[in-house]
Order: sequence, then C-alpha cells, then structure tokens
Amino acid sequence: MLSIPGRMMNSGVPGKGGVPSDTGGWVDLHLHSCCSDGSDRPAEVVRRAAALGMSGLALTDHDSVQGLDEAAGAARQYGLGFLNGVEISAGCGGIEVHVTGLGVRPENGLFQETVSGLAGGRSRRFLDMARRLQDAGYPVLEHAEAAVRDGRPCGRMNLAARLKEMGVTRTVQEGFDRFLKPGGAGYVPKPLIPVEDAIKAVHAAEGLAFVAHPALSKSLLRLLPELLKRPFDGIEAYHMSHSPAQVGELLDLVRARGLYVAGGSDCHGTIKGQAPEMGRVRVPLAVIRPLLERLGVNGQWIIDNGQRRRDA
Ligand SMILES: [Zn+2]
Ligand SMILES: [Zn+2]
Repeated sequence: MLSIPGRMMNSGVPGKGGVPSDTGGWVDLHLHSCCSDGSDRPAEVVRRAAALGMSGLALTDHDSVQGLDEAAGAARQYGLGFLNGVEISAGCGGIEVHVTGLGVRPENGLFQETVSGLAGGRSRRFLDMARRLQDAGYPVLEHAEAAVRDGRPCGRMNLAARLKEMGVTRTVQEGFDRFLKPGGAGYVPKPLIPVEDAIKAVHAAEGLAFVAHPALSKSLLRLLPELLKRPFDGIEAYHMSHSPAQVGELLDLVRARGLYVAGGSDCHGTIKGQAPEMGRVRVPLAVIRPLLERLGVNGQWIIDNGQRRRDA
C-alpha cells in the first residue's frame, strides 16, 4: 500500500512563490472519468476527490481532453487545485507506453490533432471489436454504434460492461479477460503513436510529459532506460501497481536524473464493479511543488481554457 498519511488541508492557500506551502497535503495526478473509460462524470471525480480531503488533482483521460472544463469548474467550486491532464496511448519497441501530459493547454493545434487522431482510432477499434464479438455470436454492435453516435466511452470496458448486462459474463472483469484481451474473440490491437510524437504533442501544448506507471509491467520497467533517452520531463513514481520499494527506486531515479515526479491512483471509478481506488495512492503535495513551479501555476493552480491563472 502506497498510502502516505498526511494532514488533510484545503489547498487554496498560497505559500512562498504562490505554490501552496503546506507539506502535509496530498494530491492525485492520475484519474479517469467517463470521458475515457472511467465510470463517473468529471464533476463526480472531483467531488470524490474533495470528499477524500486531497489538495488537488489532475484529470488524465485516455486520449481525451473532453472532461477538463467540467473538472476544472468543479475543482474551483470545491476549492481544489486542478491541472489539465491527458494520458496518451503510445508505443515504443513494440510495447504499449502511456504518456501522461500535465498542465497542457488543449487548444494547441498539434496537440488537438494528435489527441483527436487517437480518439478517432479509438472509436474505429471499438467498432471493430464490437463487430468481432457480433460475429462470434454476441450481439453488441448496435449498442456500440449508439455509444459512438452519442459520444459515450468507446473502450473495452464499455463492451465488457455490455457483456455483463447481457448475462454473458458474471463480472465486467470476466468479459475483459475472456473476450477483450489478446487472443480473445473480440480483441483488436490498440492504435498507438510513436512515443516521441506523444511527447512532442504534450510539449507543443506547453505541458510536461511523464512516463506513466513505469512499473505496471516487467516489460515496461525494462524499457524505462530506453524511454528516458527521449525528452520526458518526469516519471510517475506513484501508482496503484507500484510497490513501496518501487516507488522509492523511482524517486531515486527521478532525483538522479533531475526529472519531475508525478503519479496517482489511476482510479477509473466503479467501472469494474469494485470500490473506487481513489485515495489509496497519496502523492505528497511537497513532491509535486517543483512541477507546479515549473508550470508557473500557483494559488489553486487551475489551468483551464488555455489560461494560466495567477490565482483563483
Ligand atoms: Zn495507463
Ligand atoms: Zn490511466
């Protein structure tokens, strides 16, 4: 368990340099909403974050920035710090690599092009998977087409949830494991862009690019030295899948390389039918101070509508 106990503080109090000076607060800079494959509206994600007493958060939906305005508005309402975020699906050496962008200005042209290209690929893949399931005798295509039409989440989770609703599986996870992983009847590989392009898009949008959850798998961890030859700004040292020892090692690596630290729970709400994981990974506010300073944000560190607000 990576939970690091800390005093519950309201973030809005600017300290030295405008960045909240309290060292006991904590944040979660890796969260998903229903704008990608989470269960909850962005505002509900923020409400839960506020109820847990965190100081601030970032919404990092997969290849989508649709939820940022709603989340930023809710964060302002609850007095929480908020950073625009995104988690871009990229590839390197045949391995899927997620690139978390924090503090992005989503109106940037190259960034928009990259994210909307991935989102288009995401819905094409979703429909391909639905067609495969349909051909295998599980009629989900109509449901999938309606989801794309209505702008609802178009990921494997959606199809797994549908299979459960149809009584094909007992749990969402079972649908995922049986049908939607490599080798499964509905599986179609994810469209990925080169990791360099993902970093470039984040930088074009004036954000910082992080290697997401590098210890999620052995193959990803082995790839980390190679990844760090790219112009990443930092590493997500904190994540649900990281052991305390791995967090420590990643923090050492960050320090040795002069990089920034980020991370969070990667909570997707109740999408898999389990209790939300938010709150189980608590990134100390103190460790993200350099990141906030680099982004030039202070006070409630809200970045939205392309404007870095000096204070909220
Ligand atoms: Zn990820
Ligand atoms: Zn994630």
